[in-house]
Amino acid sequence: NDDQFKKVISHAKEYGYVFQSSEIYDGLSAVYDYAQNGVELKKNIRDYWWKAMVQLNDNIVGLDAAIFMHPTTWKASGHVDAFSDPLIDNKDSKKRYRADVLVEDYCAKIETKIDKEVAKAAKRFGEAFNKEEFLATNGRVLGYQEKIDTILKRLGKSLENEDLADVKALIEELEIACPLSGSRNWTDVKQFNLMFGTKLGASAETAMDLYLRPETAQGIFVNFLNVQKTGRMKIPFGIAQTGKAFRNEIVARQFIFRMREFEQMEMQFFIKPGTQKEWFDYWKETRLKWHKSLGLGEDNYRFHDHEKLAHYADAATDIEFKFPFGFKELEGIHSRTDFDLKQHEEYSGKKLQYFDHEDNASYTPYVLETSIGLDRMFLAVFSNSLMDETLEDGSERTVLKLPAVLAPIKAAILPLVRKDEALTKMAKDIVDDLKWDFNVFYDEKDAVGKRYRRQDAAGTPFCITVDGESLEDNTVTIRHRDTMEQKRVKIDQLRDIIKKEVDV
Ligand code: ATP
Repeated sequence: NDDQFKKVISHAKEYGYVFQSSEIYDGLSAVYDYAQNGVELKKNIRDYWWKAMVQLNDNIVGLDAAIFMHPTTWKASGHVDAFSDPLIDNKDSKKRYRADVLVEDYCAKIETKIDKEVAKAAKRFGEAFNKEEFLATNGRVLGYQEKIDTILKRLGKSLENEDLADVKALIEELEIACPLSGSRNWTDVKQFNLMFGTKLGASAETAMDLYLRPETAQGIFVNFLNVQKTGRMKIPFGIAQTGKAFRNEIVARQFIFRMREFEQMEMQFFIKPGTQKEWFDYWKETRLKWHKSLGLGEDNYRFHDHEKLAHYADAATDIEFKFPFGFKELEGIHSRTDFDLKQHEEYSGKKLQYFDHEDNASYTPYVLETSIGLDRMFLAVFSNSLMDETLEDGSERTVLKLPAVLAPIKAAILPLVRKDEALTKMAKDIVDDLKWDFNVFYDEKDAVGKRYRRQDAAGTPFCITVDGESLEDNTVTIRHRDTMEQKRVKIDQLRDIIKKEVDV
């Protein structure tokens, strides 16, 4: 919900995770900077993905292709002609919307109405209330739900048939039925290309028009044969890459869910034609397992199989995650056939074929793609981990229960008393020892309870406190963020205790 989302955004700023880009100049819309903690969380997510995809798979290797690519790449890939979103302008407010997202916003508003009805009924019926039963028997509410399904179906059909006039008609109907924008004066819906253009070269005559890449995948396709030959790769094999991508997105207000500059983690898996169905199923299951391994809650994921397929795909599904604003795409899994390699063969005039020794034949491989947004994954992890708790003594705490493996700082080392030089020295020695293995943090300011709360909110899984007793017997207390349990342990056990929690 809205309040929870606002809280996520302000917490991300307050605890040094995400800042608005160029904030001192009032920011740049849909562009963000990762701060001291955010950069660590982002790196840890990237490493967690890289380990699962590259390090643990003998037949997947990495690549770091450049952001700039020869402009013909984007002709071949279809992006110049077909990478666009339907836009609509409101003539009164002068606001521009992505037409499909606007329709989804209307649906969300209808959904809010349902929630209100449910909440009202829950209040009325008290303990006897059963939500499922209520939804199944209450005609008014059910009507809303059906409406949403019909609206989304019609939207999908119109977009598929490129019937932009009907998309406009749908928006006009929705605005009457369920006012959102406050004005009924719309322009026609137009397609708008999402790629950013720039120029390479200094002189006006020789400069070449380039695009900032809108996805990392094409860098993998054009390098397919280089990697296959130099790495002596045998099909099936994969090439993985993480890196920036750029899209001139129209939508605002979604924080790092939809950005104009973002990072992708993509893997293209090259397979024998005819095996795409089995690899599609394999990667669906494998990627969902990866997500679930982080412990963010099994119920927070669902597949959304596409009925409407992109021009390059013969099957596609999204792994959706329950963000504060509902279930939305987090990762895409696409069976891309030989579309991309064939296109690059045609436009470059170079063969991109694989010689299969077993079959004694050459073919253009099929491709299975897994593609996830690093920033979206960041938002999934961060928003899911942030919670308010009421403790046994009635007090409240805000805690960021990040999976330990992803937490920016693994342990904070706290001398109980700031003024005691022996304590601060001992604490600093622990920092100097542990920092070779983990990101650790030293904090001596404020009462220790306050320091615990600060670390809870920052997402640090362990606090280690050095007190008078430590000086006598080389023990410290180690406090666990989630359970708040404190244990007395030997200083030389710390490394193993932390390792056990933060290692994959
Ligand atoms: P959407 O429908 O949300 O625009 P998409 O289907 O265009 O996404 P893909 O082209 O399949 O997305 O890109 C793969 C992944 O990259 C997405 O699942 C998402 O996690 C991420 N991604 C795409 N666009 C953005 C963006 N503007 N900001 C952040 N992440 C993005």
